[in-house]
Amino acid sequence: MTKERMVNRIIGAGLKNTKYRVNIIEMLSKTDELVSAQEIYNRLLKKSIFINLSTVYRTLDILVDNKILNRVTIEGEKQSFYEYNRDIHHHFLICRGCNKIIPIYDCPLEDYEQKLKSESGFVITGHRVEFYGYCDECRKNLI
Ligand SMILES: [Zn+2]
Ligand SMILES: [Zn+2]
Repeated sequence: MTKERMVNRIIGAGLKNTKYRVNIIEMLSKTDELVSAQEIYNRLLKKSIFINLSTVYRTLDILVDNKILNRVTIEGEKQSFYEYNRDIHHHFLICRGCNKIIPIYDCPLEDYEQKLKSESGFVITGHRVEFYGYCDECRKNLI
């Protein structure tokens, strides 16, 4: 099934919360940003979409289960973040100053993964890399 058809299916399934699903999918598919459930809730409120936080969580769970969104957990962060699943392998730059999470689509580990595979015989199914530090804006404030 193509991604688009899947999105249509998930939007169509269970008419009750369709409006929330459409809005959340739209919000996240238009940005590279990773957003917390609380922030999604805030943004929906700003658009005068009244929803309670537990419905936001439930809707996000459904969208993650159906691979429309990715749930991202960050070391040292209690809350999870959500991004639109573009089916592209990527990593993150995480700012310790403002908690901004920036996706990076260059993977430096592909050759290394091949090397590890042939040397160890280990079947590698994936990897995670996150870089922590300070974004350009926060860096300027540090000086
Ligand atoms: Zn920052
Ligand atoms: Zn990678």
